[in-house]
Order: sequence, then structure tokens, then C-alpha cells
Amino acid sequence: MRLADLETAVGAVLEAVDDAYCVDLARRLVRTPSVYRPDDPGANESAVAALVAAELRALSLDVRVEEAAPGRPNVVGDWTGEGAGPLLILEGHSDVVTEGDSAAWSVPPFGGIVSDGRLYGRGAADMKGGVAAAIAAVRAIREAGVGLPGRLRVAVVADEEGMMLGIKSFIRNGWAKDACGAIICEPEANDVCLVQKGALRAIARFRGKMAHGAMPKSGVNPIPASAVFVQQIQALERRYLMRHGAHPLLGEPSVTPTVVRAGDLVQLNVIPQDATVGVDVRTIPGQDHSEIRRDLDEAVAAAASGIPACRGALEVIEERPWTETPRDAAIVGAVERACRRVQGRPPRHRGVPGATDGTFLHAWGGVPIVTIGPGDVTIPHQIDEFVRVGDLVEAARIFAAAACYCLGGAPHDLR
Ligand SMILES: [Zn+2]
Repeated sequence: MRLADLETAVGAVLEAVDDAYCVDLARRLVRTPSVYRPDDPGANESAVAALVAAELRALSLDVRVEEAAPGRPNVVGDWTGEGAGPLLILEGHSDVVTEGDSAAWSVPPFGGIVSDGRLYGRGAADMKGGVAAAIAAVRAIREAGVGLPGRLRVAVVADEEGMMLGIKSFIRNGWAKDACGAIICEPEANDVCLVQKGALRAIARFRGKMAHGAMPKSGVNPIPASAVFVQQIQALERRYLMRHGAHPLLGEPSVTPTVVRAGDLVQLNVIPQDATVGVDVRTIPGQDHSEIRRDLDEAVAAAASGIPACRGALEVIEERPWTETPRDAAIVGAVERACRRVQGRPPRHRGVPGATDGTFLHAWGGVPIVTIGPGDVTIPHQIDEFVRVGDLVEAARIFAAAACYCLGGAPHDLR
């Protein structure tokens, strides 16, 4: 589109954003609990997925509902513009973490109460607010009837807070194919995030031989091996920090022992057979995950070798690469231009400390991602979670304008 036409179209779309609709939808989403509890067949994302699917159908989107796992559906809704053009994904997750102790909340965690310009409730920020803003953005584009080319795909997937089965299934089913970019609508205070830490979770297991504590030589104690392993990984952390330093937006890489388990406190006279150490590694751009795996393997082997007849093994249970979106990706220019237009100032940048669905869209799907959405960065998973109504409706405008700039082919702003 001609730039002047595109800016006019963006103006019409921004006018068409319906704040009341956006807030009402966010409230309805919060009131539909979607905590996944494996032991409770009714506690999953299916009710909220049904709500999202109905909402997208009401907007005449082409909607598919697919189970990522039993009772855990993904919702994919496509809006098709006028003529061929890029495909942009607006992505969010439907699950929320547990509310914890309801009595500790000052509001009902699933009440969707709006008070003092804030919507309260579990998932208000992480990330039913972002999902509502994305849907409100597509609704505004549709209502404005501005004749954009290309396609918008709203993806609301399950299990982000767990093993990310939803986004993995979405990618495997081909939904990320040919996307020019994705906006991950996570709570980042409506700041632009182009970098994200990676993660690697591993379990080191040391096996010895049970014995009586009075006759330690008759057994093989795996505990000293696990202690040496903990020291080894602390040394690894220092090495990574020396080599890579701190990232300006993401901070330092880390290698953290998070679980140590061996023996039984009521059996202090027993040398246990097994000792286990859980490790949570967080990486920054430039680190090589395959090298980290090798380093951890070597640390296990070295720790076990210090105890005759002790065996050690490392199991990597999840690997989430760090991501760094190139600044010249079309989606970056589109989102930054949208921020300037909606926020009336240059966009602020930050980095995402944890993994998101965007990790896999980027790493497995090869889709350039920008993470931006309403809600304070530290509020997710807390008691009295909230999102400011002002941030919510600002996000809807940013998403709507970014979608227009992305589909309409706006050139990059000069910075
Ligand atoms: Zn989230």
C-alpha cells in the first residue's frame, strides 16, 4: 500500500478499537478459569478455548480447534484480507498458573473485578489481557474495512506454563509455516522485546550402593558425588559469565542447582543408593547449548569418578533456545512504528527473562518474533494479579497498528 494510504488506514483502525469490548472480553476470559490440574479432569483450557473460538467465529474468522493434548485445545482463527500478502500471527496462551491460596487474595481470583482502573484476577496480565487485546485488534481491523492485503492468524494455545505442548503442536501441524512474523502478546509493559533468555533443564543422577552408616565402606555413597557436581556447575556458571559477560537487556547467564535429593531424614544411619541434582540453566545470546550439554555431562562424569563404583548420568528434560530477532525483520519495524504512533514516543526495549511460546515459534518454526503486551513484567503468577485497563486498550491499538504496518508493507522507521 502507499504509505499515505496506509497511515490513513491505521487511523481508521485505531478509531475502530472498541475499549469496552476489549475490557469486557478480558473480564470474561479471567472469569473462565483455565488452571491445568492433571488430577482434575475438569481443570484445563477447554472452557476458555471454547470462549475464544466462539468469539473468533462471531468475528467471522475461519476457526480451527485442535487438541494439543486430551482436554487441552489450541484455537487458531484466520482473518483474510483483500488479496495476497504476508501472514502475521498474534499469539497468546490460554492456560494460567494456579491462584494459590484464594484467601490470600484481596479479590476473588477468578472474579474479573475492575477497580481503580485495573482488571484483577489470575491471568489478567499473564495473559488473558493480551489475548483480549489481540482479538480486539483483529476486530477493529475487520470493522474498519480498510482493505489490507494478507492474513492475520490469532493463535491461542494451551500449556504455555507447562511443557508448551500447545505451541509445539501448533508448529507441528503447520500453522507457523509461511508466517512473516509473530507478536507474542505476553505482559511486557507494552515494551518491545527482541531478545529472550534460553533455558536448559537437566537432572544429574548418581547411583551408589545402600549400606549401614556404621559400615560406610561396605556401600558406595553417591552424596559426595552430588556435592562435587554442585561445585562443578557453580564453576561452569563462573566460566560462562567470564566468557559471555552480561547481556545489556537480559543480564547474566546462570547455572542454578534447584533440587538436591538423597536419603531420608528419618533414616540417618542409612547410606542411600541414589542422589539427584536438578539444574536450571539460563542462557543469553551467543551461548552454545550443545556445548553446555557436554559441559554438564563432563561435570557428572568427573563428580562420579571421584567415588569408586559410583555411576553418574545426566538427563536433559527440556531445552529452550535463547532467541534474538534481527532488527531488520519486517515485524520489528511494524511493531516499533505502531508503538511510536500509539504511544507517541520512541518504543522502549527490554528482554524476556523466561521462555515463552515465542521461543519455539522462533527456534522450531523459524518465525521472527516480537514479544509485547499489557501488564507489568513482575506481576505474573503473583497474588492480586492485575492489568491496567489503560495498558490493555493501548496494547489493542499497538497490535492493530502493527498488524496494519506489517500487512501493508510499511518501511522501517529510521532510528
Ligand atoms: Zn504467559
